[in-house]
Amino acid sequence: MVPESVCIIGAGVFGISTAIALGKRYPNTKVTVIDRLEPPVIDGTSVDTTRCIRVDYKDPIYAELARESMDIIMNDPDVSPFFHQCGMSFVYDGGTDKWADIWINGKIAAEKANEGHPGRLRYYDSKEAVYKSIHGADAEPVASNSRWNKGYTNYLNGFIDAEKSMKAYYERAKMYGNVRFIFKEVDSIVYAPGSCKAEGVKLVDGSTIAADLVIVAAGAWSCKLVNLDGVCKSSAIEVAWFKVTKEEEDQWGKMAITTNLSTGINLFPPYNGEIKCLRRSPGYKNTMKVPNPNPAKQEALEISYPRTVVDHPTDWIPQDAEDALRENLAEIMPALAKRPFDRTKLCWLTQTPSANFVIDYHPELEGVLLATGGSAHAWKFVPILGDKVVDYMEGKLEATLKDMWSFAEKLKVTVDNGSAPRMDGEPQELREVVRECPN
Ligand SMILES: Cc1cc2nc3c(=O)[nH]c(=O)nc-3n(C[C@H](O)[C@H](O)[C@H](O)COP(=O)(O)OP(=O)(O)OC[C@H]3O[C@@H](n4cnc5c(N)ncnc54)[C@H](O)[C@@H]3O)c2cc1C
Repeated sequence: MVPESVCIIGAGVFGISTAIALGKRYPNTKVTVIDRLEPPVIDGTSVDTTRCIRVDYKDPIYAELARESMDIIMNDPDVSPFFHQCGMSFVYDGGTDKWADIWINGKIAAEKANEGHPGRLRYYDSKEAVYKSIHGADAEPVASNSRWNKGYTNYLNGFIDAEKSMKAYYERAKMYGNVRFIFKEVDSIVYAPGSCKAEGVKLVDGSTIAADLVIVAAGAWSCKLVNLDGVCKSSAIEVAWFKVTKEEEDQWGKMAITTNLSTGINLFPPYNGEIKCLRRSPGYKNTMKVPNPNPAKQEALEISYPRTVVDHPTDWIPQDAEDALRENLAEIMPALAKRPFDRTKLCWLTQTPSANFVIDYHPELEGVLLATGGSAHAWKFVPILGDKVVDYMEGKLEATLKDMWSFAEKLKVTVDNGSAPRMDGEPQELREVVRECPN
């Protein structure tokens, strides 16, 4: 059931998409979206120069949802200008480990998504062919390149400018008369005295906003507002940008987004005079103790909580992150391997054990709906996420999605489904390894 008043904490893809769906489908419901900052939120996971829009999921449910979302994005005049269908290459070292399985499954999914359009796929069977896919037919791979041996490109995929398009979605949400935005930090959810029934939220300035339903769509920050122990873990991964010359933009202008599954690196083609790279590393955590957000529980909660440019503007990615990026670049884009980074970022995300999202009521609380757990792959679903949240509220979400995105699934399923795989290992404590911006 959709109540008369809803408060959404967070204006990233989950929150804004839900606000739009409620604005469209429930014009009489009063919707208040609260964020720390006005969208596009500078340190939100949904905001960046680029986010990949791809369809080659092994899981047929995500594959279908991704295709549906991509079609909507491509036909949406407000965001389609920000989508660049440059293709995505997936490469691995040619071995026989789990990355080979993920690569093979991705290739099968890409072929399925391109049935009838074989020209949209290209295959590479040697390190020379992989290298030439980036640098052109005349290029010779560097001798040390040993981990870029097999690949394919799916030209259906591409990237979207995730800052400009979040601004467009924000402008759209504001058009609905029943949707309003407030830019302040939520301190906590307010519960009826002596109960776990939510009545609204308290902001850090002490003011309160009453609501029949509170939707927690606060991404990596959600773990402080509700207990998500065992369900969502927040961590950050390293991102870096290089400035490139006009000549280099021309030279690499036709390259696809290139991901090496075996090493975790993700390279984007030049965009606005920059090349972005990131690594799907085990990442970094920022451990702290907070009061238990469940009013019925006394013991403090240990969480990992985002530390971002907003409070730490001079943070710079750790040395091991830089070394790993440069080691990869030396093999595949040697011209960048020794170039200073123009800027870097630790991008926070919230990960569930299975990489499935969470769209479910919190089992210990009343009137608190979770819309989070993006697990490094939720952006592309922005056109449909909000409708799925509202379907859930109406009790109409398809049974498979309801199970897949349930709170309980996260406590049962410990195996990552490979939708956005990260390198093996444990996150490091950020405060022990973070560096200061060199200039
Ligand atoms: C490096 C990286 C690369 C990625 N690449 C891709 C990709 O290529 N394709 C893809 O589909 N997905 C990708 N993802 C995943 C995708 O970006 C996320 O799943 C998605 O953006 C998460 O959205 P969200 O709404 O949950 O979180 P966010 O966008 O972080 O939104 C949460 C919002 O809540 C607000 N908030 C938090 N706490 C409070 C509070 N107490 N009071 C008020 N407001 C609060 C924050 O300010 C923030 O704006 C990537 C993620 C990362 C980290």
